[in-house]
Amino acid sequence: MRMRRLRRSEPLRALVRETSINPGDFIYPLFICPGEGVRREVPSMPGVFNVSVDEAVREAEEAASLGIGGLLLFGLPESKDEQGTGAWDENGIVQQGLRALKQSAAASKLVLIADVCLCEYTSHGHCGVIVESGKTFDVDNDPTLNLLASAAVSLARAGADVVAPSDMMDGRVAAIRRALDAEGLSLTPVLSYASKFASAFYGPFRDAADSAPQFGDRRTYQMDGANLREAMREIDLDLDEGADMILMKPAMPYLDVVHAARENFDVPMGAYQVSGEYSMLHAAFQKGWLDHDRAMLESLLGIRRAGADFIVTYFAKDAAKLLR
Ligand SMILES: [Zn+2]
Repeated sequence: MRMRRLRRSEPLRALVRETSINPGDFIYPLFICPGEGVRREVPSMPGVFNVSVDEAVREAEEAASLGIGGLLLFGLPESKDEQGTGAWDENGIVQQGLRALKQSAAASKLVLIADVCLCEYTSHGHCGVIVESGKTFDVDNDPTLNLLASAAVSLARAGADVVAPSDMMDGRVAAIRRALDAEGLSLTPVLSYASKFASAFYGPFRDAADSAPQFGDRRTYQMDGANLREAMREIDLDLDEGADMILMKPAMPYLDVVHAARENFDVPMGAYQVSGEYSMLHAAFQKGWLDHDRAMLESLLGIRRAGADFIVTYFAKDAAKLLR
C-alpha cells in the first residue's frame, strides 16, 4: 500500500478530503457601541472593531455578501449599573442594533444571534447579581436567572433570530425558555454556551467588550479547564432544559471536549474560536512567524474536524474571502 497515491494532485486530494469549511459555517461576532460612524479598533485584536449601529449594518451587508452564516451580537452600553439593566432595556444598544439590522437587506441572509449575559452591562463586570457574604463576593445564581430571562425576551422582541446565554448560571436555559414561551416567542431557539471554561484565552475579548470583572474572577460559575466529564453533564442539563443548540468555548485548547460532545450528543453544535486564539495567531502573523492564510484556515479546519458544525470566529470575513 502507498498512501501517497491519493496525494499526488490537488484534484485527487480534494476528492478524498474528509472535512470541509465553508463561509456558511462561520458566525461573525460584532461589538455594537453608541454613536454614529464609529469604528474603533480593539487594541489587542487587530482587524476587530467596536462599531456603531450604522457601521454594524455595513458589516452585516459585507458578511452577507461573503456568504457568512450569521452574526453574534455583543453590546457596549452608554452606562453600566449594579444590575446590568442595559441588558434588557428596550432601547439597549444591541436592541437598537437588532432593529436596524432587521431593516437591512442583509438580514434575510444572516442568522442574527444575540449574546445573553450581564457582564457587558454591570458596573462590576460579573455575569450576574453580586451577593456579599463576609469578606467574599459571589454571583447569586437564582436572582440572576430572572434578569437573564428578561434580557433574552427583550432581544428576541427586538429581532434576534436566536438567543445565546453565555453566563453559565445553573438553570438559565430553562428560565429563558419559560420566559420566551410565556411571551409568545416559542419559536425563538436557544443556543446555549453549554460548556464554557474559565479561560485565560478570553483576555482580549474583555478589551473588546469592556467587560473585565472589577474584582475576583469567574471561576465560581465558569468551568474548570481540567474537566471533560463535567462538560458532558453541563451539556446534558442544558439540553434537558430546552437548549436547541450548544456552543463550546474556547475551541483550540478544548478540541477534545468538542470531539466528545460530538460523539455524545446529536444536536447542532458550534465552537467559539475565542479572542485569545485569534490574537495569538495575529501576534505571530505580525512577527512573520506564521503564514496568515494557511494558519487561519488550518485553525478553522481543526475545529470542524473535531466535530463543530459551525464556528464563531473573528476570522469569518478573512476566511470567507479565501474560500469563496
Ligand atoms: Zn458574561
